[in-house]
Amino acid sequence: MIEESEFDFERFVSPKETEQETTDDFEVSLRPMTLDEYIGQDKVKENMRIYINAAKKRGDSLDHVLLYGPPGLGKTTLAGIIAHEMGVNLRVTSGPAIEKPGDLAALLTNLEKGDVLFIDEIHRLSRQVEEVLYPAMEDYALDIIMGKGPAARSIRIELNKFTLIGATTRSGQLSAPLRDRFGVIMHLEMYTVEQLADIIKRSAVILGVACEDDGAEEIAKRSRGTPRIANRFLKRVRDFAEVIGDGRITADIAKIALNRMEVDDLGLDSLDKRLLTMIIKNYNGGPVGLSTLAAALGEEAVTLEDVCEPYLMQLGFLSKTPRGRCATTLAYDHLGLLKDGQTHL
Ligand code: ADP
Repeated sequence: MIEESEFDFERFVSPKETEQETTDDFEVSLRPMTLDEYIGQDKVKENMRIYINAAKKRGDSLDHVLLYGPPGLGKTTLAGIIAHEMGVNLRVTSGPAIEKPGDLAALLTNLEKGDVLFIDEIHRLSRQVEEVLYPAMEDYALDIIMGKGPAARSIRIELNKFTLIGATTRSGQLSAPLRDRFGVIMHLEMYTVEQLADIIKRSAVILGVACEDDGAEEIAKRSRGTPRIANRFLKRVRDFAEVIGDGRITADIAKIALNRMEVDDLGLDSLDKRLLTMIIKNYNGGPVGLSTLAAALGEEAVTLEDVCEPYLMQLGFLSKTPRGRCATTLAYDHLGLLKDGQTHL
């Protein structure tokens, strides 16, 4: 029998990558390698295909690309696909990992012609590091200052032409000078239930687990528009299917498993519900400021903003106004609450 404590129920729906997911071999094999395998995001895919073909025809490197959208939607995957389709190497790093200008200089000077450098959470680069990036992106050069005071002089190191792919959850977090240096800016959308069901069926084949269409759909409906969550649910539902079923993922098994994980039929978990209930019961439906909510729930504002809010807004349960967050009538209905915060009889 599976012990409930084996699962992290609390943050099961987090779209952020867990440490285990970063190193898991299966996780790596689930990542599509080509644009054809990449499901959904049709507009992004079609434009990307044109930019890649045009760059290849000219024998040139691809222009710098900025990808933005909530975590888990496939930004890292797309960077890998771009490198693969261009036939170049991919180097992956993240904003917080590049602490000093020297760290970035080391990365840039090691790039071969046409290589893709992917910087996740690019909005978290420090100002000094960002300044090294400007001439690198624009002129493919590094300006190094040697010495101090009047004796200081600047030397310029030429770099190989490369493509920077930056990823961020919100494009507004980026400084204007950095944003302006990207030739291509693309927004990744949340996935539809049909697209997520396709992703789940593809992953099930790779994992070697039998998954019925309505089983995939049941998981997809609760995956918050996010492939990373869909794949995580698939693996946990597979555990239930093996222990309490015959190994096949059916709609019934998916329902039992996801209910046990406290993920409701729309993918809401306990934090989403606490957030909405707090707005309704303690703040009369809103408006209430994000920092007030975060303090009242004992959560970080950025968790609420990146993890809960995009999906609640997508469902139409939450609206953002200049004066704060408001719960909508749909949220009251879903939680079975009346306008005065009382529960339906
Ligand atoms: P992000 O970088 O935006 O946080 P990732 O690129 O790491 O997201 O994607 C998370 C996981 O979801 C990947 O391991 C991949 O298996 C899966 N995935 C993402 N987008 C797609 C897609 N369009 N089609 C199939 N699988 C996808």
